[in-house]
Amino acid sequence: MTGPKKRLYIKTYGCQMNVYDSELMAQVLSADYTLTTQPEDADLYLINTCSIRAKSEEKVHSLLGRLRFLKKRRPQMLIGVGGCVAQQEGERLRQRVPHLDLVFGTHGIYRLPEMLRQVEDGGAPVVDTDYVEQFQIPPRRHWPPGQGKALVTIMQGCNNFCTYCVVPYVRGPEMSRPSGEIIQEVQNFLASGGREVTLLGQNVNSYGRGCPESLSFPQLLRELAALPGLARLRFTTSHPRDLSAELIQCFAELPALCEHIHLPVQSGSSRILSRMKRGYNRDDYLQRVRQLQAVCPEIAITTDLIVGFPGETEEDFQETLSLMQEVPFDNAFYFKYSPRPQTRAATFPGQIAESIKAARLARLKEIQDRLTRASHQRLVGQIKEVLVEGRSKQSTSQLSGRLRSNQVVNFTGSQELIGRLVQVRIEQACQHSLGGRALGCAGSC
Ligand code: SF4
Repeated sequence: MTGPKKRLYIKTYGCQMNVYDSELMAQVLSADYTLTTQPEDADLYLINTCSIRAKSEEKVHSLLGRLRFLKKRRPQMLIGVGGCVAQQEGERLRQRVPHLDLVFGTHGIYRLPEMLRQVEDGGAPVVDTDYVEQFQIPPRRHWPPGQGKALVTIMQGCNNFCTYCVVPYVRGPEMSRPSGEIIQEVQNFLASGGREVTLLGQNVNSYGRGCPESLSFPQLLRELAALPGLARLRFTTSHPRDLSAELIQCFAELPALCEHIHLPVQSGSSRILSRMKRGYNRDDYLQRVRQLQAVCPEIAITTDLIVGFPGETEEDFQETLSLMQEVPFDNAFYFKYSPRPQTRAATFPGQIAESIKAARLARLKEIQDRLTRASHQRLVGQIKEVLVEGRSKQSTSQLSGRLRSNQVVNFTGSQELIGRLVQVRIEQACQHSLGGRALGCAGSC
């Protein structure tokens, strides 16, 4: 490549898997493109989409509508849509949005350079939603300086077909990444000065299932936790049904494994969990929680909750509220149920009125806000290790980082601390974060 690189802007919607995929897009295109934060200057504008809820999908369509004007002003700019909405709609999306140059599915990231060449050579839009047979991502080698934490994908897709969820239709069947590539990527990150790794997958607990040559998930955790220089190890998302005793034991035995688990329960009612096809009931879930708390008393437990699933009665909803307090959750992501294309629950009788869903969501939020504040309050006065991630969003004079138990902490400190582990005295509990005072670098920072 001669001459200056072209500019790439990526807009990312959705979960950490999508954040990882966007990083991968930038990496795959790095020979020809450099990232810009100014969308109006971009030569290539990619939108990485999410279709898990109707609302995220609406945001994508509204952005695409606005981009029509940008494309009119700068017709040479290429616009591409990737991720779950692209996988789901494919050719239909191209027809609906005439200013689109590229539609690529969840398995198409590695074919991006080739697709762009086709668009540039022929001028005609390209649609590629093919699935690959094997999930192989060459180990990443470079991270920006000062990046203390990295996302590392270990599997993708899902075989569970929960009745509300579109993921198995847009991400395909479960595929595990070869263990050797994961370990190599983590080693590369540690060699660049990184401290914390989050392993990603739709259902990480089933990592390696059906691949005799791969390690099991607990074995993978043990291998990674033993790597010199790894201070913190996390994973998300884990399915409560597949949370084995062996995996729970890892929280007792692996010092690098952080005292936090995101364990989506979705509902506190066994009747609704069965209609969701989650594969566990309320008691099973609570039993897993008790086992985790027994081996790791400090563990922070966060969850996902859906309100207004078809057929959810006031009694079912009350069971969700009581479960939240029984655990109690340190934090939660909560959503109103929205019917998704192809899913079974979209056709279930007993769809709940929007006004009831909204009222239930507000009641649930009130309880969770109280639980989160109480969880934050318990940390006040303690000295905790924080991995500094960057400048605080609220005030650029402050730094922001996370505890091992995943809460956000803001405190005053110098730029050089970014990417490092710092001891912080927690002095203030707010709704969404903690405030503290830095005491010095932790251990080997
Ligand atoms: S486990 Fe269920 S909710 Fe999670 S990705 Fe798979 S189908 Fe969706």
